Amino acid sequence: MKKILLLLSILPICLVLGQESTKQKFPDGFIWPVGGENIEVKLSSLFGESRGDHFHNGVDVSSDNEKVSSIEKGTIIYSHYSSDNPFENEGGSGNSVWILHDNDILSAYYHLKDGRSPEILEKRFIQKGDAIGKTGNTGHSSGSHLHFVIAKDQGRKIIDPLKILPPVKDTKSPTISSLILTIGKNITYVNDGDSFNSSSNFPITVDIADTGERKGQRRGVKSIQFIVNNKVYKKSNFNELSLVNSIWQNEDGLSFNDLFFESHYYIGDLKFISGDNTISITAVDFNNNKTEKTFTFYVNKIQKK
Ligand SMILES: [Zn+2]
Repeated sequence: MKKILLLLSILPICLVLGQESTKQKFPDGFIWPVGGENIEVKLSSLFGESRGDHFHNGVDVSSDNEKVSSIEKGTIIYSHYSSDNPFENEGGSGNSVWILHDNDILSAYYHLKDGRSPEILEKRFIQKGDAIGKTGNTGHSSGSHLHFVIAKDQGRKIIDPLKILPPVKDTKSPTISSLILTIGKNITYVNDGDSFNSSSNFPITVDIADTGERKGQRRGVKSIQFIVNNKVYKKSNFNELSLVNSIWQNEDGLSFNDLFFESHYYIGDLKFISGDNTISITAVDFNNNKTEKTFTFYVNKIQKK
């Protein structure tokens, strides 16, 4: 038993330090880990969103006390429940289970309800749809939900679960609200047609949200593009994240700090010209619903004294 526990405790490190794997295609036929019906309204957070100082590395499905199923056949390689060590803080993931599938794909299920089924420790091989726990609210979680992660390459690459799970309905295009200027501690919202004074460069962000089928949904988008004064300034997607020199970055080589500032999508510390400037923004959600918005604003450049 001790040996197993030791193995379990070093596993996350192995996941990161393991050998290079060969690139293989994903197998078909994954299922949603919780009831797939109404998944469009239960899907509350998406992959690649800002979590203050890091990327959200999976999807969140609002759910309480529902069966959590393995998305495909595989081997349970790790599970951690608070009952394993009642004196230790269980950390952000709460009770969690990791499963290794064919083609080096890992799936992870967080915030599970207390009370591990004995089968999870005994049953190493598991079939698609087998129960691995129930949805709960353990760890850093505000409200019952399943946080679900798909990884590859021993955990060094994290993939948007929506890329491999059955499709989710979303007919609503993302919303693009104001531009946000952050000057010191002050925040100024800029809308199309506005004007402002500028004496130096400062961070400019934009409020973008993917609204879904349920009213009030505010989720991250799959790709963004910012055109500043007719030049593509930043273009990026949120399909997957890789660990490069200890920093998570996306396929475009951009890190969290390149993509977010104060929890909003970060355009940049922009240098404007005197007079009219334009920023055109394109946001695309996971179902390829697209929204474009152009802001034209007048900048009055003033000399710093
Ligand atoms: Zn989450």
